[in-house]
Amino acid sequence: MDFALSDEQQMLVDSAKKLSRDYLAPLLAAHPKDAPLPKAAMLEAYAHFANFGITAARLPQEDGGPGLSMVDYGLILEQIPAILALSLISHDGSITRLNAGAPEHIKAAYLPDLIAGRKIACTANSEPGAGSDSNTISTRLELAGQHATITGQKAWITNASICDVMVVACQAGMNEKGRPITRRVLVDRSTSKIEIRETEITGLRQGHLSEVIFDQTQVPLDHVIGSSGDAGKYMTLAWNGNRPLLGLLGVGIAQRAFELAVEYAGVRKQFGKTLGAHQLVQQDLADIQTAIVSSRLLCLYALDALDRGERANGTSAMAKRFATESAVRAVNLAMQVHGAMGITEELGLEQLWRDARVLQVPDGTPGILALIQAREITGEAAFR
Ligand SMILES: Cc1cc2nc3c(=O)[nH]c(=O)nc-3n(C[C@H](O)[C@H](O)[C@H](O)COP(=O)(O)OP(=O)(O)OC[C@H]3O[C@@H](n4cnc5c(N)ncnc54)[C@H](O)[C@@H]3O)c2cc1C
Repeated sequence: MDFALSDEQQMLVDSAKKLSRDYLAPLLAAHPKDAPLPKAAMLEAYAHFANFGITAARLPQEDGGPGLSMVDYGLILEQIPAILALSLISHDGSITRLNAGAPEHIKAAYLPDLIAGRKIACTANSEPGAGSDSNTISTRLELAGQHATITGQKAWITNASICDVMVVACQAGMNEKGRPITRRVLVDRSTSKIEIRETEITGLRQGHLSEVIFDQTQVPLDHVIGSSGDAGKYMTLAWNGNRPLLGLLGVGIAQRAFELAVEYAGVRKQFGKTLGAHQLVQQDLADIQTAIVSSRLLCLYALDALDRGERANGTSAMAKRFATESAVRAVNLAMQVHGAMGITEELGLEQLWRDARVLQVPDGTPGILALIQAREITGEAAFR
């Protein structure tokens, strides 16, 4: 076991920091901080991701993927601003969901542009009536003649309003146990009609989250990918990778808050000495650092388990729950160190706090993640 980064990993981290500092942070700063970025700005960010080789991080090398380990991908993502990193996780997870079991001509038609960052992908699984209980989707898929038809509504879909292609989880009838038979369907927005409405939320407000409505949306039959009933499996495989990655976005946010708190504690004086010389403020700083380091280690541990070929359901769930909850706690403490300054919009800590809070929801709420972990501990599924 070696906790030190290799020279190559240190280079990846340094390059990701430089990319964020020189290009991504200025790109975000050039746009209103409370409104979704224009697609042109997102494509600019994706062009940088493509240069870095991270647009399809989880795509197998034989299909054009970069052969990046999950640990290395996580080390990079921690350094990328969370709204862009969340978009990228959705994009690259969608590429793997599109790729698995797709015919060669579909891969040839879509993968090059997605890998080059010229097109953006997303995955639509959640529905107004199917959130944590993701197997109960009701968006219907009907196969007739030369077309498949999709009817239904999706909710909370990252990237939907800026995407070119969407992997949609649909229900194609019921099995003998009365559970939906799920299918993955590729919807190309240049040829299929869908309605998209942006949803406003508390944080990550330069990002894109939408409702999607399919009103007898037609797609070619060969856009129905994989085999009957396999959508749930491919959703879960990507979720297991996404969870520690989202945890690391929380770590990145907490690290920024920590740096602000350390700086402020070194200059602000009360009772004749700097805040950082007071014992309770020292404890706050120690608690924030402990939250960051323990979260980072747990997320990298989960990603390493995935790299070693483990399914890592429980470990990934544990990592995301711990890291995203710790991030909210850490930012809150950093705000406390700043007193009234901590809650000003000017400083940006309140935005980090709202951003960190949002990360608790996608790909599993803390409650559901605890149940996934405890299912492995007890052998009992306590969801129903
Ligand atoms: C920023 C963001 C991005 C997202 N991106 C996507 C995306 O790209 N694609 C997509 O398909 N979806 C996406 N989602 C949706 C997300 O996956 C769901 O919101 C999430 O799974 C929770 O579902 P829900 O909101 O319907 O909550 P619900 O399932 O209604 O849960 C509400 C509360 O009840 C608790 N709860 C539910 N069931 C149980 C139980 N059995 N036992 C104990 N407690 C329980 C939950 O923990 C939660 O606290 C995104 C959401 C957000 C906020």
